[in-house]
Amino acid sequence: MTRHPTPPPAFRGHDALRASLHRALSRGTLPATVLIHGMPGCGKQSLALWMARTALCTGDPLHPCDRCGSCRLALRLEHPDIHWYFPLARPKRASSPGKLAEALEEARHNKLADFRQRPLRPEGDTEVKGIYLAAVLSIRGRAHKRPAMGSQQFFIVGDAEYLVPQEASPEAANALLKLLEEPPDSSRFILTSGRPGSLLDTIRSRALPVHLPPLPADEVAAFLEGECGADPAAAKEAATRSQGSIGAALGHLDREGVQATERARSLELLRAAAGGRRGDSYKASLTFGAGGARGLLGLFAALQLWIRDLGAAALGHDDRVVNADELQFLKETARRLKLTPDRVAAAVDQVEEARMLALGNVNPQLLISGVLLELEETLTPAA
Ligand SMILES: [Zn+2]
Repeated sequence: MTRHPTPPPAFRGHDALRASLHRALSRGTLPATVLIHGMPGCGKQSLALWMARTALCTGDPLHPCDRCGSCRLALRLEHPDIHWYFPLARPKRASSPGKLAEALEEARHNKLADFRQRPLRPEGDTEVKGIYLAAVLSIRGRAHKRPAMGSQQFFIVGDAEYLVPQEASPEAANALLKLLEEPPDSSRFILTSGRPGSLLDTIRSRALPVHLPPLPADEVAAFLEGECGADPAAAKEAATRSQGSIGAALGHLDREGVQATERARSLELLRAAAGGRRGDSYKASLTFGAGGARGLLGLFAALQLWIRDLGAAALGHDDRVVNADELQFLKETARRLKLTPDRVAAAVDQVEEARMLALGNVNPQLLISGVLLELEETLTPAA
């Protein structure tokens, strides 16, 4: 039996969505720009790669066939007409724009080489990253050239919210916008984002939105068992806690010890914010060291999970509560706060903002006390 290479990173499930994308791709009815959105780690970039592979496949009768020359190149991430960009750390020692462009291109190729080696990488690296103007200019240069092999080429821009770079200049986003306004005939763009609200409206309005929902927990668990050799209990636990994201589930498998601590600490934060007593939030923030804030990424993810659980408890969806051992606390708190879905969503967003800030060089105590005050206002009902 021939063993097919695993698509890097593997893409699973979503058969109905893939069938409709497949139809649109083969009839040529898909607009030049697509925006895949969904929660972090749910497989948006893998879906983008699958779409490009599907469109460029030259085999028969199923696309992608995974056997033709085009598919093989795509599976090895070596297809000359699939250009995959993603946020990168800003290279050091890049003194001129030309040097920066070169260094970024080198970093991108190194990362692609990593993906080939380790297609199943856990979520949650903690570098400060961006998609810089130099990268967009490189995309523009390529987009105006003819495709190398077929009649079209694909540009995948992963985590496109990083287009607004750390230095808060919208240049990169504007440069991309210009390209999307007048896309060269043979070039197609697939953006992905976990926070589509952070993209320029003008970019969003040019793209066909495709929502990638989370996978059911049992599919994630089956994947972790089958592809990663996780034992069934660990796979089930990680799948439940990951809320349908394979990327997040891989992170959970890697970090079980850390996770228990983060879960406990984030619950303290939630209790402080939901308690409505300012002093508690302040005290909670003081328990965090003054060192870097990047260690807070997991903590914030755990806090988001608690808030989502509060939302599920508020709506009486007890079966959707992940931290089921605290169901009683969650239900009581949700009732006391008279929580509504829009306040839950706003609270999750506030923590997401804090998570983004944690990537930068901020003081963890300030970050925590800031987000707790915001959460307090959002979660506590107006008098
Ligand atoms: Zn093929």
